[in-house]
Amino acid sequence: MGTWIKETDKAIYLMDGAYYLQKIDKTAHTGQVEGETFFRTGQLKTWLNSKEPPGFFLVSVGTGVSEPQPLPPPPAPPLSQGITITKSPSQVKIYQPYQVAGTASTSLVGKTVELYIDNSSSPAAKTTINDNQQWLVQSVFIAVPKPQVRNLKVVAGDASDVATLTLTPYIEDHPGGTKLNLGGSVGSGGSNRASDVRKVQERLIALGYTFANKNYETFVQTIRLFQSIISGRTAVRGVDGRIDVNGRTQRFLEAANAPQWMLMPSRGVGFYNLEVIDQPWDKHDYGIDWMSNVIKAAGIHYELAYRKNREGIAPIAVNDVSLPQGGDTIDHAGHETGNAGDLALPRLDGDFGGITWSDRRYDRPATKAVLEALRAQPWVNKSTLYFNDPVLINQRLCSRAAGHDNHIHFEVMVPPTP
Ligand SMILES: [Zn+2]
Repeated sequence: MGTWIKETDKAIYLMDGAYYLQKIDKTAHTGQVEGETFFRTGQLKTWLNSKEPPGFFLVSVGTGVSEPQPLPPPPAPPLSQGITITKSPSQVKIYQPYQVAGTASTSLVGKTVELYIDNSSSPAAKTTINDNQQWLVQSVFIAVPKPQVRNLKVVAGDASDVATLTLTPYIEDHPGGTKLNLGGSVGSGGSNRASDVRKVQERLIALGYTFANKNYETFVQTIRLFQSIISGRTAVRGVDGRIDVNGRTQRFLEAANAPQWMLMPSRGVGFYNLEVIDQPWDKHDYGIDWMSNVIKAAGIHYELAYRKNREGIAPIAVNDVSLPQGGDTIDHAGHETGNAGDLALPRLDGDFGGITWSDRRYDRPATKAVLEALRAQPWVNKSTLYFNDPVLINQRLCSRAAGHDNHIHFEVMVPPTP
């Protein structure tokens, strides 16, 4: 349909269908006859001299019709390029992994997404855009920076697609960040002033080591447990059981991120703790909050990166961590300090456990995704991720260790000394 011209009380319009493309406003003519208007004809000439001039001229003066509306702009084309952030925190606790998630155009599926903090040239995290055009990166702050607000950048593919956000790291409210002000050393071979012993016991109890004041022997054993944890050991050994004034043990006891002793989480997004839920007779249910945080964060990662919207994929299945007061266990060589855990293997029937990697029910793609979720956690020790599936070892996702045909073993590292 061609164009046409419409004249109303107010203007002359070049129309296209029911909308106008251009208009010439009429101006009041200050002459002798009241109500006269005029317009300059330059624009009208171009209309009439165009290649396809208007087909007719409709005069609608004095009819009271409403003025025509301009042709609406065409709808914006659907997103065909780039990445979008759909989930990100504005504040994050230090030492707590945070996630930034989003979507991407189909052309970016399979490409990498990298997270950069401020002007850093090396990425803080990296992932791949999945077939559902989704991505999720995870990172962690280990200190409250100055200035506190960080500028983050998510870069996809060949760096032509960028999305930005800001984040404010902060210290979590914690039973401590407390000063112990010890007058002398405490524990095995220490001065053990009564007031110092009390301060240390109160602090240990506030951190979840509720057994710290049972008797002197348990007290020293608890200090040794704490020292083994902050040394990254999986067994309680090689430590002296004494807290020296302002030494590393005291500083870690006082720290805002002091390891807390706790019952491990029973279930959450992407994970299920079969040890806690299904095995009331087995007491390897305890560990430190650093471990709990890793389990929760890996579960979220696994869910978003692999399991979401898919029926019948097994969750991350947590097994033994440590006994209620840590320490020696006949079931494991390590697993004494709440920083090491085992995972039962995902099965193709959506259940888990009771199989080895050579079983036909073994779900290798899910296991791969579990290992990737663990490796995405900044505090998971990549060199002590044990599992004997040769295919996944070849992909450098885990390494071989005797006795690890039927489960994955993982450990959590110690954050920097405060
Ligand atoms: Zn283990």
